[in-house]
Amino acid sequence: MVELCGMSDLPIRIAIIGAGPSGFYTAEGLLKEIPNVSIDLIDRLPTPYGLVRYGVAPDHQKIKSVTKMYEKTASDSRFRFLGNVTFGKDLSYGDIKKHYHAVVYTVGASADRNLGISGEDLEGSMSATEFVAWYNGHPDYANHIQTITAEQVAVVGMGNVAIDVTRILAKSVDELKTTDMADHALEVLKDSPVTDVYMLGRRGPAQAKFTTKELRELGELPIADIIVNPKELELDEASLDSIDGDPAMKKNIEILQEFAHKKPEGKPRRVHLRFLVSPLEILGQQTVEALKLEHNRLDENLSALGTGQFETLPMQMVLRSVGYKGVALPDVSFDNRKGIIPNIQGRVTDSQGQVIPGEYVAGWIKRGPSGVIGTNKADAMETVQSLKNDLEPLTQQSVNTDSIDQILNATGIQSIGFKEWLRLDAYEVQQGTTQGRPRVKVTSVEKMLELCKNH
Ligand code: NAP
Repeated sequence: MVELCGMSDLPIRIAIIGAGPSGFYTAEGLLKEIPNVSIDLIDRLPTPYGLVRYGVAPDHQKIKSVTKMYEKTASDSRFRFLGNVTFGKDLSYGDIKKHYHAVVYTVGASADRNLGISGEDLEGSMSATEFVAWYNGHPDYANHIQTITAEQVAVVGMGNVAIDVTRILAKSVDELKTTDMADHALEVLKDSPVTDVYMLGRRGPAQAKFTTKELRELGELPIADIIVNPKELELDEASLDSIDGDPAMKKNIEILQEFAHKKPEGKPRRVHLRFLVSPLEILGQQTVEALKLEHNRLDENLSALGTGQFETLPMQMVLRSVGYKGVALPDVSFDNRKGIIPNIQGRVTDSQGQVIPGEYVAGWIKRGPSGVIGTNKADAMETVQSLKNDLEPLTQQSVNTDSIDQILNATGIQSIGFKEWLRLDAYEVQQGTTQGRPRVKVTSVEKMLELCKNH
């Protein structure tokens, strides 16, 4: 049935693609700002919450309590979750355009950047994105790592993701087994031979991207000493200028100084923070055997410049943690260079910079992979405001009010509603309770679907 919505009481139908934090913040904003809205939040997995479930470190449970707010959003009668539905496969761009007045893309940035150096495809070299998804139980990565044989591991990058993977590798399984880390990862990490983790920054300490709380945590690890070379903490004039008036960065430098002057206690593992070094080549026959680095200095723009001095460290695993990258959605406008959906204040634009009516974007796929979870709230609100301001022309369009479920039923897709997800959630929490853990994650989509329907 095709109906014209106009400014009548008929619901304004909005699809949100991607049920991570920015999807939920967008839904929350729309429910608040548009009384007669009807929202379908669509995700390719049966589980909601995106990076809160599959990105946030398992030993950072407090951050995950944000899902209580998302549950509140989901309890609104104008909201539906459609899990296990893939945009571009189960529902096409055309289906979405036909059935909704507007669509908001909130798919995040699921791919990773690579280093572009030789040896990156050797066994033992992978992205932090894969490693994080593996230990967090993402169904696509459940069998990704069978064993870890490395004693020395390099983590390339100086952001919070690099800190997360470094910390996980530097913790004992006893510290991790009380978390919601995937069982397959606990099993592998139980036998981890890792002794040394090297975090490698191509620039200096004053350019590191991590936050103070995360840095401080690295100095408090029960079975790992922190090792920093005081020489690598010496700041040039430009760096000194850049931290002037930046208390957070000054605090980081202070903490790094403390680390550098702390005497190692002889713990079984060590975390080495190295600055002003760039990986040049990963060496090895089939598997990673060593990492060749070039020492850098900073130019006047604080960019890294090679000095022609080299160093090779024995290494059996290399995790590149140099940022996430957005992936194009079928038929949706995309800026390949920036890895985002191009937009003006959340309104999607085409390759000529013209706004495409009815299409919006929020979160990492809108602005790039930066900021903490809460940053996505303000970002989503900007998009919600743009959409609200466009309501009049949007509601002049006719949309097909026949349920989108009919298309899904016809193709045999078992979509998962929020109540069904709550059954899986309850099952995971119940399994966790008996083991003194927040939850035990189910990592196979097949089992998730079964539990959503039958538990
Ligand atoms: P990020 O903060 O952008 O850090 C990326 C790091 O990679 C930077 O140190 C960057 O150095 C380095 N890098 C980039 N290209 C490189 C290259 N070719 N060679 C060597 N190094 C290179 O990204 P992220 O760590 O993936 O984090 C993404 C976002 O999630 C951040 O906003 C982060 O704060 C957030 N996050 C937060 C938490 C938390 O709150 N606990 C946890 C995880 C993630 P340059 O500066 O020189 O480019």
